[in-house]
Amino acid sequence: MLTNESDATQKSNLDFETMPLANVSDSGNVTIQTSRKDRINPDKCKDDDDALYKWQTPYLYQGRNGRLTYGGGTRSGVSYQPQGHHSWPMTLGGDPSQTLITIIDSIHNEEIHYGRSPVGSPVIAVAGSIYHYLTNYLNNSPTFGPNGIDVLQGRRLTHPGGQTSGNPLLIARMQQGDTTARRLASAVRNAMTTYYGLFQAGSHPPVPYSSYRQGLDYSYDHII
Ligand SMILES: [Zn+2]
Repeated sequence: MLTNESDATQKSNLDFETMPLANVSDSGNVTIQTSRKDRINPDKCKDDDDALYKWQTPYLYQGRNGRLTYGGGTRSGVSYQPQGHHSWPMTLGGDPSQTLITIIDSIHNEEIHYGRSPVGSPVIAVAGSIYHYLTNYLNNSPTFGPNGIDVLQGRRLTHPGGQTSGNPLLIARMQQGDTTARRLASAVRNAMTTYYGLFQAGSHPPVPYSSYRQGLDYSYDHII
């Protein structure tokens, strides 16, 4: 199914509970349950924030400004080391020359790459790693899932991929150069946009849309 969710994820003030979560989980329709104070107290100022994530700026790393980190004080068991992340991972066909997004080690590696959160992130609890999210997204798609062209053939997308994973199947299908290949790449871009949109919605200040979409767009244009 091809949907364009970029309009929704471009809005920085999305309510966390209204994010599009269909196809997110094996168990179907899941909603993120939170006990955010702004649900209890509607008068609570949005700027007085208790968001789990924040976009920290100014913060310069490798010539880019801003990084995704946790809000609040320093948390134990968290690595705050800045790293450059390919928003379209190269193991999923992302272009090596895409603009990277700066993310701290624990969110980058543990959460996004491996689906483990050292701080109990509700985003990771619902969506898992980007590979887990995309695997479910494709398998729930009438066009690309088992009832369609079955891109993944029962395999899962993983980090770092490899010959027994679904990664080479996805990449090969996106590189075929036909209409279906472009539609598949577009669906992958949409899915990953939605995934990062969960972090955007859960962060204050919010992760800028362009910080992850730039790499996705560049990779989409360079798959062939
Ligand atoms: Zn990465």
